[in-house]
Amino acid sequence: MTTDLVIDVRNVTKRFGGLLAVNDCSLSVRRGSITGLIGPNGAGKSTLFNMVAGNIVPDSGQVIFDGADVTGMKPYQLFRIGMLRTFQIAHEFSQMTALENLMMVPGDQPGEHLLDTWFRPGLVKSRETAVRKKALDVVDFLKLGHVRNELAGNLSGGQKKLLELGRTMMVDAKVVLLDEVAAGVNKSLLNDLASNIERMNRELGYTFFVIEHDMDLIGRLCDPVIVMAQGEKIAEGPMAEIRANPQIVEAYFGS
Ligand code: ADP
Ligand code: MG
Repeated sequence: MTTDLVIDVRNVTKRFGGLLAVNDCSLSVRRGSITGLIGPNGAGKSTLFNMVAGNIVPDSGQVIFDGADVTGMKPYQLFRIGMLRTFQIAHEFSQMTALENLMMVPGDQPGEHLLDTWFRPGLVKSRETAVRKKALDVVDFLKLGHVRNELAGNLSGGQKKLLELGRTMMVDAKVVLLDEVAAGVNKSLLNDLASNIERMNRELGYTFFVIEHDMDLIGRLCDPVIVMAQGEKIAEGPMAEIRANPQIVEAYFGS
């Protein structure tokens, strides 16, 4: 099924006890876009993201992914159908090389299935070769080739972020969710990260849905930008338009 919207959130609501975290909120992410989500602390951004990614089930409303209703599906199920979220490199993986970290990401190549492995051992080898080749392509694309055999734990903060991004390239993502990926990354590395996100978008056609506090980064990368406040979407448009709207600036900084 093809649809112009990769993610279509329809009237979702989530309460935590008496607190209305997300209130009848609708928004969407167009295929091929880098869509940003901003808003003051407590606006409901992470809760909304968690509902899209399957970490939280909405009290009401639907999450449509690539034309199908995925409300209530688990993160691993969403992962399998191409909704990817970046994860920090876990402690256990810091003792593996950058390349091995990429090769860890499950794909859907032959050899994945027990029967194939049992009856056709040759396939496993060819899968291994294919995965390795893909991982090498990914490190090249991200210009991490020179550190591919370094232990992930020894990489710089910025290189780790690139590796996190790289893991989303090991499977066929329809959309990549980035939740404050720039947090704790210095300006020059941030630039590097941003240009790689741009290249993934422009050259490889990746769609991104991004929560970010860094307004410069949002302004550079995202169009459109969606603004949330008090659990609701209050505006959507190019960053220049958002910045120029006094009501939004008021709602954004006035709380
Ligand atoms: P944002 O990411 O925009 O800062 P959140 O989605 O994290 O906002 O939070 C929205 C509101 O929901 C806040 O008032 C927050 O305190 C509350 N909240 C978020 N998660 C929980 C939770 N697990 N339990 C109770 N309240 C929560
Ligand atoms: Mg948050």
